[in-house]
Amino acid sequence: MSTIKFYQQDQQVPLEMHKVRVVQKLFLPTVEERVEKINEAGNNTFLLQNKDVYMDMLTDSGVNAMSDNQVAAMMQADDSYAGSETCNRLIKVLKDVFGTEYFLPAHQGRACENILAEAFVRPGDVIPMNFHFTTTKAHITRLGGSVVELIRPIGLKPKNNEPFKGNFDIPRLEALIQEVGAEHIPFVRIEAGTNLVGGQPLSLENMLQVAAICKKHGIITVLDASLLQDNLYFIKTREEACKNMSIREITRTLCDQMDLIYFSSRKLGFARGGGIVSNNEKLILRMKEFIPLYEGFLTYGGMEVRSMEAIAIGLQETMDEEIINQGPLFIEYLVKELDDYGVPMIMPAGGLGAHINATEFLKGMPHDQYPAGALAAALYIAGGIRGMERGTISEQRETDGSEHFAELELLRLACPRRVFTLSQIKYCADRVKWLYDNRSLIGGLKWVEEPAVLRFFFGRLAPVNDWQQKLAAKFRQDFGDSL
Ligand SMILES: *Cc1c(COP(=O)(O)O)cnc(C)c1O
Repeated sequence: MSTIKFYQQDQQVPLEMHKVRVVQKLFLPTVEERVEKINEAGNNTFLLQNKDVYMDMLTDSGVNAMSDNQVAAMMQADDSYAGSETCNRLIKVLKDVFGTEYFLPAHQGRACENILAEAFVRPGDVIPMNFHFTTTKAHITRLGGSVVELIRPIGLKPKNNEPFKGNFDIPRLEALIQEVGAEHIPFVRIEAGTNLVGGQPLSLENMLQVAAICKKHGIITVLDASLLQDNLYFIKTREEACKNMSIREITRTLCDQMDLIYFSSRKLGFARGGGIVSNNEKLILRMKEFIPLYEGFLTYGGMEVRSMEAIAIGLQETMDEEIINQGPLFIEYLVKELDDYGVPMIMPAGGLGAHINATEFLKGMPHDQYPAGALAAALYIAGGIRGMERGTISEQRETDGSEHFAELELLRLACPRRVFTLSQIKYCADRVKWLYDNRSLIGGLKWVEEPAVLRFFFGRLAPVNDWQQKLAAKFRQDFGDSL
């Protein structure tokens, strides 16, 4: 991407530095059909059929567009079980990008987390991290460990000018190590950038400080690099000391100080799959035996071999600033449009997607009517746009059955990389603005079927009254017979 100035306009506009050569046809159902479809889906955007979705902004996972070079490389995949040339090619690229010697393949990010936890976490262990990710925490707690989040309080405030909201609170990390003892901390996990906190990045300086503290205490430093692509761009553009460094130099400066690095290639590298890399043979040996057990042989680890070819090319593309800035620039554009209009957005814009603060958007809605879930259903009705609820519905009830209210009620609008055009982003902004002006019509949701675990994936809800019909009627009034 580039940003350019349009004739006689002040605003910088993101300009795609790629062209589309393979397309997928989209459909936009009428607003009346959208009311029907969202109710067939139990007012849960996870249960919508993709044929009924115009803009799929559910996630950035496994849905990023591949380049011509990635698709071409996939045709050369070497399927041999042992001694595969594909694996050798990928190892070479990993060495080039991360500077690491060893590679353990795994089928996706959470598989790496399973293996890390199996190898290093024992009952009673404490694993500090800037913020948890759902699957990370589940694997650690499954093995009797616990997660301590060390993000600074400012990182959780919806709106400020903090460039690196994902940063660790360094004094709290030091204090925690003193308190529980280094022997009870198998590793410190750095998530760069943060998934559940709006794709907010960490500074290179902060991550190097964490690594230095770990080194001093003999603790392993683990980097979750799943969302590193956007974070690299933010380091380059927001961190004064790094503005003359290349993306490659930033990556190596960071990775040289990490003991273990793992990644989901559903995000990093515009592909599928994942893996763990390191220069520490001893640490690798502690995990190696689990790969054939849980994933697949050491040359593919449960991945489709073609995906490995796509990762190898995708990782090299990740080192190109003009490629990796596409996500952040589109997100920034969308967030700015909406913030300028007065829509409560999480600020500053981060990676992964735009995040709407549903608590503010639907001020006055009772918390037990699930504002973020209601907003997700309303936006689908307004524009056929599928976002993801990241609020109370995504939490689990307490053991006594009471509701665990989320700190932030967010509607996440993910921007898969290289997928949307700017007119689609503008359409999304337009429908959110309309919804904001008609927010008084949006009502809450109640449970119809509530699974005990992972209820956000499978649960079904219903509107508390006929607000959806009223919203659709207002849409007709304002847009005539337009879709
Ligand atoms: C998505 C994600 C994971 C898990 O990766 P999967 O490939 O979905 O299993 C782990 N960490 C972070 C930061 C992620 O965003």
